[in-house]
Amino acid sequence: MSLICPKCGKTSDKVAFIEAFCLECYPVNIKVPDKFEFEQCTRCGRARLKGEWTGHNERKIKELVLSRCRGDFESAEYDMATQTAVFTMKHGAKVERFIPLEMKKTICPQCSRISGGYYEAIIQLRGNRARMERYALMLISSLEKKTFIAKTEEKDEGLNLYVGNSKAVVALMGKLGVRALITKKLVGREQGKRLYRTTFMVRL
Ligand SMILES: [Zn+2]
Ligand SMILES: [Zn+2]
Repeated sequence: MSLICPKCGKTSDKVAFIEAFCLECYPVNIKVPDKFEFEQCTRCGRARLKGEWTGHNERKIKELVLSRCRGDFESAEYDMATQTAVFTMKHGAKVERFIPLEMKKTICPQCSRISGGYYEAIIQLRGNRARMERYALMLISSLEKKTFIAKTEEKDEGLNLYVGNSKAVVALMGKLGVRALITKKLVGREQGKRLYRTTFMVRL
């Protein structure tokens, strides 16, 4: 004897059933968010997730979307391309829910500082030009993991690197064991805070 789905009237000889309902009509208890909103920087592509600006967003977005879903499912996947979550229920059936991603285009604070010409530190490399150039490349690749390089300048007396964050420079110099001549200059105030620019002169 075939079953008849009380919701849509399909019969169990035509479609799969779970208990008294067809697979499609089986009442599932899943709660999903209406949408997932996040900000993305149009310059660097990083996204603001849980208050932090980060790269490699796909995995994190998937995790965050799924962390906001509740219900009697065993496991869940979220597909960014189709913006669909697929839940595998205890009885093995799969249930899909559309959770649209809403991306707000913006400029992250770091990129807005770069475009504003902001920097906190100047590294002045002095000495042999070939050594300075090699050294500058090494410094830039290390510093770019922590902050940004606003610009680099070639001068008659050497190379200058303009760096977003001076703490990052102090930390790197310490790690490399570099002796630098440090001078600090007050350059202004922002919301009552003194703004300093630090110059690190390094002889190579
Ligand atoms: Zn049905
Ligand atoms: Zn950015």
